[in-house]
Amino acid sequence: MIYKRSSALFNEAKKYIPGGVNSPVRAFNAVGGDPIFVKKAKGAYLYDEDDNKLIDYISSWGPMILGHAHPAVVKAIVERTKDGTSFGIPTALETEIAKLAVSMVPGIDKIRFVNSGTEACMSAVRLARGYTKKDKIIKFAGCYHGHSDSFLIQAGSGAVTFGEPNSPGVTKGTAKDTLLAHYNNLESVEKLVEENKGDIACIIIEPVAGNMGCILPKKGFLEGLRQICDNNEILLVFDEVMTGFRLAPGGVQELLGVEADIVTFGKVVGGGLPVGAFAGKSDIMNHLSPDGPVYQAGTLSGNPLAMAAGYTMLKELNNNREIFESLDKKTAYLHEGMAKVLNDANIDHQINRIGSMISIHFCKDPVMDFETAAHGNNPKFKTYFHGMLDRGVYMPPSAFESYFLNDALSYEDIDHTVNALSEFVHELK
Ligand code: PMP
Repeated sequence: MIYKRSSALFNEAKKYIPGGVNSPVRAFNAVGGDPIFVKKAKGAYLYDEDDNKLIDYISSWGPMILGHAHPAVVKAIVERTKDGTSFGIPTALETEIAKLAVSMVPGIDKIRFVNSGTEACMSAVRLARGYTKKDKIIKFAGCYHGHSDSFLIQAGSGAVTFGEPNSPGVTKGTAKDTLLAHYNNLESVEKLVEENKGDIACIIIEPVAGNMGCILPKKGFLEGLRQICDNNEILLVFDEVMTGFRLAPGGVQELLGVEADIVTFGKVVGGGLPVGAFAGKSDIMNHLSPDGPVYQAGTLSGNPLAMAAGYTMLKELNNNREIFESLDKKTAYLHEGMAKVLNDANIDHQINRIGSMISIHFCKDPVMDFETAAHGNNPKFKTYFHGMLDRGVYMPPSAFESYFLNDALSYEDIDHTVNALSEFVHELK
């Protein structure tokens, strides 16, 4: 494939935008080469500035679960635009989407909308601290909850891809209140709780992790966290920015049957526009301003275009719940196809999958936490990424990311993907 125009655009972008991108993982630093620049997207495909057509496995990092430029979502945005794009005054639509979200997600009474997943998680933690009147939080190595200061302690995703899991600019004072546990390791959590008795406001976790590749919680792990929280008056915060409205209508809480105290959302909930949200029972949510003392606000929060896109997306998913099963089957088909090619060629690999989230690590041992995931961050991954891209398949440009399948993807697209892998699998030896 030719990427001449993309490369020229990237060189121009670098003059005016740090690193040429507005979010680090878009650059190809981890895999080498210049990023592609997208001109448009429709359904399962991206069309880049050099007029290459690519099968898209990142779906805007999650939001485009129905495929790009879905007709109902596009129509809702266009129609809503005609009546004004921002008021800073309440609209009826905000209550409609809130009502729908509350009906789809287990265990929540109220939800507040913000503009990004970062804002959602940052606000959730402030609320947990305000509610419990405690300062410290526990997070897990390799989990990413956005770029707010408290979370840039051994974070996953771009933070680790670019070698800065602990970002400069985060003060020691902030860092000391973030305690670090290990994913799938209850003992590491128990130890921290014991050492910091009475000081921990919340445990925040990606209940299925997607920022070190896709990592599933071991049986009993989330239940164990729930128990630890209940025993110690700690709030459990599920960061469902990736998994919410994707793995099931009610996210991981519904899929795996464990309830959190506060849940955060992003990505799918905005239908491709900048939206995040956090939700919980009234008892907790009523601590938010203006009812309660915990301050949180946003000029563009509940923006009418964003709410129109999000509401239409949630309605489509709620009214067509077979989509979740369809996505699961397509992802399982991809899993089987890729596993067969890699097994036949004797390539060490680990494929983790749940619903429409999947990732491949080129390593021998099971990938279940940050340490084991890091074994997959190797030259083979780079070969794999470029081998796929050269054959028209756009995978995440980092071993520390999950793929997000969208329902516009056809079985023929998946066959093409598996065939692409078989063409260069010998290079992964
Ligand atoms: N939480 C999780 C689990 C995420 O994956 C992300 C982003 N990938 C965020 C929070 C932050 O969301 P945003 O990029 O919208 O700020």
